[in-house]
Amino acid sequence: MSRTPDPHDFLGLDAGLAEEERAIRDAVRAYAKDHLLDHVADWYETGALPAAELAKGFGSLGLLGMHLEGYGCAGTSAVAYGIACRELEAVDSGLRSFVSVQGSLAMYAIHKWGSEEHRQEWLPRMATGEALGCFGLTEPDAGSDPGSMRTRAVRDGGDWVLSGTKMWITNGTVADVAVVWAQTDDGIRGFVVPTATPGFTANEVKHKLSLRASLTAELVLDGVRLPASAAFPEVRGLRGPLSCLNEARFGILFGVVGAARACYEAALEYTLSRSQFGKPLAGFQLTQRKLAEIVVEVNRAGLVALQIGRLKDAGDLHHNHVSFGKMANVRSALSVAREARSMLGANGISLEYPVMRHMANLETVLTYEGTEEMHALSLGQAVTGLAAFR
Ligand SMILES: Cc1cc2nc3c(=O)[nH]c(=O)nc-3n(C[C@H](O)[C@H](O)[C@H](O)COP(=O)(O)OP(=O)(O)OC[C@H]3O[C@@H](n4cnc5c(N)ncnc54)[C@H](O)[C@@H]3O)c2cc1C
Repeated sequence: MSRTPDPHDFLGLDAGLAEEERAIRDAVRAYAKDHLLDHVADWYETGALPAAELAKGFGSLGLLGMHLEGYGCAGTSAVAYGIACRELEAVDSGLRSFVSVQGSLAMYAIHKWGSEEHRQEWLPRMATGEALGCFGLTEPDAGSDPGSMRTRAVRDGGDWVLSGTKMWITNGTVADVAVVWAQTDDGIRGFVVPTATPGFTANEVKHKLSLRASLTAELVLDGVRLPASAAFPEVRGLRGPLSCLNEARFGILFGVVGAARACYEAALEYTLSRSQFGKPLAGFQLTQRKLAEIVVEVNRAGLVALQIGRLKDAGDLHHNHVSFGKMANVRSALSVAREARSMLGANGISLEYPVMRHMANLETVLTYEGTEEMHALSLGQAVTGLAAFR
């Protein structure tokens, strides 16, 4: 006889995970319970994060650059990496961002496009969390259209000199190394910039109402002088940064399943335990309608993520698949968070419960790593063959 579905994994998706994937899930869940869940609301409220401590903790779990090969990285499957993102984002999108920026943006960029010297110098220390990285692409006047960036790198003798401003850079205030993308006479190029270099400043972005358990910075490059070897040797144009964003977006489309699941579970638990009009809220038809809607969204998003993960592991992933997953799953997670928020009534707006924190975070997730509109345009182009970006 078939078993009644588990409300916490309705479609039984985790039963299909490989042993390694389940082990990573369990390790991240245990770490979250012991080290993250009790603190995350405080970090969110104060906008402060013990970055060095978190980096060491995530490093000791093997999460930093876990899907990369060599240089102290674990070389796990893409699905295993996705599952780790899912479990981290079930705690908070800011913590998943911390790991994504380190592993999928900064480390991936150095791994894929850096020289052997860059890799040897930075990756082993970044994998353990001894060194932190950030990724500077966005500028105050260049977001969805990074090709219009103004940051410039010019040759001066054998050196490079970088000038410009990057904006909204996660971990910029705590990074030891920044991967910075800049215009050159030869097109856009990437540079490995130790943040202690004279002329480099990182200023904290304050007054955020979303992703508060994450550090965000403005990077100012004021005549930052670097040796010729600081540039990524081969890659030119947007292909470089976009390849890294594709990696990070993959983590997002898994991660938001965790945020959605956390909101659904909070709403389920709350409506089962709170009574009005003489019975649990969960016993009313209108509440059950909402629970049915959100359990469908959580599981549908989980299926999308798994399929995209399997495509990546098989080497069949196209960036349009990632756009599909980012757009579909962030949208699902936001709709779950908004619905769950209402189900908790007044408590739904409190930091005592995770739901509104997730809801506010997901507004950032909708915008960064390609806005929903950019991914819609990417899908539109994929199905019509017509580009409508400009
Ligand atoms: C908390 C946080 C952390 C971040 N971390 C990083 C980081 O680590 N590194 C980094 O480089 N960046 C980072 N970003 C920046 C992020 O990637 C950008 O915010 C994002 O790319 C959007 O750019 P923008 O904010 O300039 O919006 P804009 O590009 O100005 O867009 C504004 C609105 O216009 C829409 N729009 C733009 N063009 C079109 C068009 N052609 N057709 C229809 N609609 C359009 C957009 O979809 C959006 O709705 C972060 C952002 C946040 C909020």
